[in-house]
Amino acid sequence: MLYGKNDQSSQSPFLQPIFGSDASKRDIPKYKLATEPIEPRIAYQLIKDELLDEGVARQNLATFCQTYMEPEATQLMGETLAKNAIDKSEYPRTAELENRCVNMIADLWHAPDSEAYMGTSTVGSSEACMLGGMAMKFRWRKRAKSAGIDIQAKRPNLVISSGYQVCWEKFAVYFDVELREVPMTAHTMSLDLSDITSYFDDYTIGVVGILGITYTGVYDDIAALDAILTQYNATAKLSVPIHVDAASGGMYTPFMEPEIIWDFQLKNVASINTSGHKYGLVYPGIGWIIWRDKTYLPEELIFSVSYLGGDMPTMAINFSRSASQIIGQFYNFMRFGFNGYKEIHQRTHDVAVFLAKTVADTGYFTIYNAGEHLPIICYKLKDDAAQDWTLYELADVLQMKGWQVPAYPLPNKLSDTVIQRYVVRADFGMNVAEAFAEDFRWAIDKLNQSRFLRQKDDEKRVQGFTH
Ligand SMILES: *Cc1c(COP(=O)(O)O)cnc(C)c1O
Repeated sequence: MLYGKNDQSSQSPFLQPIFGSDASKRDIPKYKLATEPIEPRIAYQLIKDELLDEGVARQNLATFCQTYMEPEATQLMGETLAKNAIDKSEYPRTAELENRCVNMIADLWHAPDSEAYMGTSTVGSSEACMLGGMAMKFRWRKRAKSAGIDIQAKRPNLVISSGYQVCWEKFAVYFDVELREVPMTAHTMSLDLSDITSYFDDYTIGVVGILGITYTGVYDDIAALDAILTQYNATAKLSVPIHVDAASGGMYTPFMEPEIIWDFQLKNVASINTSGHKYGLVYPGIGWIIWRDKTYLPEELIFSVSYLGGDMPTMAINFSRSASQIIGQFYNFMRFGFNGYKEIHQRTHDVAVFLAKTVADTGYFTIYNAGEHLPIICYKLKDDAAQDWTLYELADVLQMKGWQVPAYPLPNKLSDTVIQRYVVRADFGMNVAEAFAEDFRWAIDKLNQSRFLRQKDDEKRVQGFTH
């Protein structure tokens, strides 16, 4: 977020400790530093109280981000907060754990032995996508120059479905690339391949396939895209590579749907990113990107860090950050192994399918995603459903029971369609799901018995959708 002067609230500018202590006689300013320190106990309690009404994270069905880790993992991460992930010479063992994670993920994604894959941890998929995008842009520039293309004549472009996550828009703006959006259609609800080659030209740095469209959870057909590219690249002046944004699918599909071919098994897939804090089951702050071979990662983008003692190649936008998330990821890999991840995802999948059935059984909704792939449920009101309420009102009533569910319009040409989406995570067990199902039926009952006073801006707002 960006904040400024106008974000100072009009309420009291002071926090007032209420616990019997000297500090409770003093007001603590909210928007400037207090002159004097206060006791740790009071600081702790005051901040806990400030955060009190944020809702229970585990009742939040809007987020992909992990809301639970095992106590041992949390303890380990707490104990390693002071380690700096960039400082490979001070913390060589931590660096080794990152190295092992990269190799494990490359193996999960079938990086071919015949090529020299490279990868790194990041803060999340957003940073990973920036790196992936930059690598495509730099590589394109070099190749375009040697092919005699006037690289100043037009801006380079990146082709992607309009169901992209906002990080790609950021990439396009920050790095001055044209985002060529392929409109998502009601028919496919993913990257429309019917005339995809018409989006490519000599200025195309790459095409992004999304393994788990954020809006709906639907997968782009990356194998079909790869086949089209194999044909296109055979005659194109400049070949077009695929980057797979597997923020959510990258740590789910390999365990649950190995029959789907989407990764480095496809020749044109040059790089893949994922969020460790989604189905990698780590608390927020960790992502990964891997290139199938070092030829896809231009050397100019790799910096050698020597001032911390060693001489290490890095590629990152950030510099210093805690290594505890990397250690949390390694903990999960070691603790769960392949079958542990599979079992956890299987249970999450079963809950998603149960919830989708709960929604469908009411008869009011058209289901777009019934949790069969990613454990995501996504639906809209049936066009001919005879109800007087909207998905926003349903979200409001569910909120009365503590559930946070988002409602939002689809992007672009489909913006007339408002949908609701649940993201099921590992800590959302069947018992919790049954409690939710009961509240869901209760909410619909309640709405059916209500009369509505509508506000003007109720039409197509975005409620609770972040990523
Ligand atoms: C969540 C998501 C992102 C952004 O991931 P962060 O790890 O939160 O930065 C990017 N792309 C897709 C498809 C996503 O679902």
